[in-house]
Amino acid sequence: MPYRECMVLASAADLCSFVDHSPTPFHVCATVASALVEAGYRAVDEREPWPRDPGSYFVVRGGSLVAWTAAAGDRPSDGFRVVGGHTDSPNLRVKAHADITYPGLGVVALEPYGGAWLNSWLDRDLGIAGRLALRDGSEVLVHVEEPVLRVPQLAIHLSEDRKGVSPDPQRHLNGIWTTDDGASFVDWVAERAGVRASEVLGFELMTHDTEPSRLVGARGEFVAAPRLDNQGTCFAGTRALLAAPVVPGIRPVLVLFDHEEVGSTSERGAQSDLLATVLERIVVAQGGDRDDYHRAIASSLCASGDMAHATHPSHAERHEPRHRIAVNGGPVLKINQNLRYATDAEGSAAFARACEQAGVPLQRYVHRADLPCGSTIGPLSAARTGITTVDVGAPQLAMHSARETMGADDVDLYARALAAFLAPA
Ligand code: ZN
Repeated sequence: MPYRECMVLASAADLCSFVDHSPTPFHVCATVASALVEAGYRAVDEREPWPRDPGSYFVVRGGSLVAWTAAAGDRPSDGFRVVGGHTDSPNLRVKAHADITYPGLGVVALEPYGGAWLNSWLDRDLGIAGRLALRDGSEVLVHVEEPVLRVPQLAIHLSEDRKGVSPDPQRHLNGIWTTDDGASFVDWVAERAGVRASEVLGFELMTHDTEPSRLVGARGEFVAAPRLDNQGTCFAGTRALLAAPVVPGIRPVLVLFDHEEVGSTSERGAQSDLLATVLERIVVAQGGDRDDYHRAIASSLCASGDMAHATHPSHAERHEPRHRIAVNGGPVLKINQNLRYATDAEGSAAFARACEQAGVPLQRYVHRADLPCGSTIGPLSAARTGITTVDVGAPQLAMHSARETMGADDVDLYARALAAFLAPA
């Protein structure tokens, strides 16, 4: 896998750079891997014997990644401290038969992935990115950064009531990209990736907003960027892993899952064996057996990070009134009595202790009881591994929009809380 030039993971401006380099789950993994390699982590191939030497390692499985440190003094039954997140975000993806012929216009067939807020994808300058699988079994990452696609909305004069049309996912989301109505879009992408189109036998291609992420507000208080859900956590979790001191008897782990936005059921989603398998292989490589693995699981805790809803100033009535969440108010503990979030008393206390240790404020989120609450990787990963899990996040607005907003100060507060969780005092 090609690793990108190392990226500094410190400030909100660095988060902007992280997001702009990471238009797809595969690119998130490459971006995180580059930071890990720079910090001395070594890539592990799941097909090879597991490394027995103490050290810091990571595994990439498609659009998912697990990183950990195994120290010399670890006992095989020592617990893990896990920070989780997800690498995927809702977007518009290219259909298998990509080209729609229309006189004088090349149109690409697109469809939504996950719960994309469809209106936000209209009239944007879209780039294309993803991976191409080639005849020889190799794989190429592609990232066309300049705008090549647009999904134009209907002119207001052509709508019946001048109130606009809410987009139909089948009919209204295709993208225009050329006036050459004989051109093949995937062939063009292959050419841009430097491979022969005839060699491309499979692809996962998706659109992204090409407008650079940036700080906005009178004093740059906000981050405006695509994919903050959940690259805000991928960034903060990676920074936390790299910043946290290794505490004797606790093995720190970062896991970033693909496919959260579509239910997490895949070979690399939160419902897969990925995390459990990696943890078991760490225990075995350190000389443990199956009983040591189960002892380690029983001593482990996971902070499942996903973004949280800040209270929207124009829609305050949509929020539970006694659980207001402030932008730049610090990380959020997410609680749901019906287990849309995995948080229980034990996990709540562990994350509250981490925030105290890091000196950051903690906010508590509860969804309105009369609105359906979204879910996340926490309950799924907890069920799969048996690890006590707490769902946390950083506040943001406009979740699942093509462009979202979070607090610039929250980037640092969130990363510090996660670092303290990985290295409890
Ligand atoms: Zn999410």
